Amino acid sequence: MAYVELKSVTKKFDSAVTAVDNSSFIINDKEFVVLVGPSGCGKSTTLRMIAGLDTVTEGEIYIDDMLVNDIPPKDRDIAMVFQNYALYPHMTVYQNMAFGLKLRKFTKKEIDARVREAAEILEIENLLDRKPKALSGGQRQRVAVGRAIVRKPKVFLFDEPLSNLDAKLRVQMRTEISKLHQRLETTMIYVTHDQMEAMTMGDRIVIMKDGLVHQIDSPLNLYHTPKNQFVAGFIGSPSMNFITGKLTFENGFVFDEGTFRLEIPIKYRVALQDHLNKKIVLGIRPENINNNMKSSRESHSSLLKFHVDVVELMGNEIFVYLKTKYHLLIARMKPENIPNVGEEIEVMFDLQKLYFFDANIGDILFNRVDWTECN
Ligand code: ATP
Repeated sequence: MAYVELKSVTKKFDSAVTAVDNSSFIINDKEFVVLVGPSGCGKSTTLRMIAGLDTVTEGEIYIDDMLVNDIPPKDRDIAMVFQNYALYPHMTVYQNMAFGLKLRKFTKKEIDARVREAAEILEIENLLDRKPKALSGGQRQRVAVGRAIVRKPKVFLFDEPLSNLDAKLRVQMRTEISKLHQRLETTMIYVTHDQMEAMTMGDRIVIMKDGLVHQIDSPLNLYHTPKNQFVAGFIGSPSMNFITGKLTFENGFVFDEGTFRLEIPIKYRVALQDHLNKKIVLGIRPENINNNMKSSRESHSSLLKFHVDVVELMGNEIFVYLKTKYHLLIARMKPENIPNVGEEIEVMFDLQKLYFFDANIGDILFNRVDWTECN
């Protein structure tokens, strides 16, 4: 059993930089948790404090009931995989993987058994005699993971381990790390700036910005019920559209963008009533603006006309950029009836899947959790 708990953890590098600001969360035993956020949000610093490579300015970190603030990294029973792999260039793959165990005075026999077991898991048995310079990026990455596996640590920490690999290899390695997690059944904490990696790998995701934790939840809950505009915009690709407008009343609530108006279903009314005649931000995901006119007549959706600014052909789908005087919206559509740039087209907004945010602080006013409560 190995859980990790952060209690009100703050890291200040000097009085000017607060890299991590009062973070509190628990990573459960055997859980795969991803720390994600834009560059500089404090995710690596959080990981480095758990590893013991950075000191904690305020707060407490526990690994399995043990307060580790003052415990040196080597005594925390964790293993870390870095972005740059940090392999010893003069040692073979075998020696690289064996090195940590040798320092810890394991017997030759135990070292050999562990190295060969890890090599088998990672399918690098045929590379054991090679030096790192004779390996591809993906192979080096595996060796770095192997070096962590042989330790049989309580917790694995990964700091952007795939960011030096090309896109295809990254996808392959990400499934391999997920499989490794299932096989080893060990607690894993993984840092990345890539929301796709976070969504596909994490049991839960911690979303950070400017040193603050914005939301901790499962990938699907983050997608469907973001707490604020930052989370809503960070999760999902292409990002959610944010449209600033005014909420007015004419026989019902109407969202007025300035160049188009949208009648808002009555179910949103309770959540939005305090914002009547105020500026408000409407959020809609690109996949909820589309060109399927048949279903628009059958469902709760609203037809609108826009000029096409750009069309990106992805093969299985198209991204259509729609222009208003005030906004550029992205719609993710089926590759049928591909529109021309400059053409005016009719699209539908799925009114079941609207989000509303406070225009000043970005907090969600209505999301799909509210929706089910209202139904
Ligand atoms: P990236 O994805 O770019 O690695 P990150 O989210 O991992 O970013 P951190 O490396 O944790 O971010 O950095 C958080 C903040 O702390 C940044 O503003 C960074 O400049 C600052 N910082 C990190 N290390 C130090 C240091 N040793 N001294 C001073 N400031 C630092």
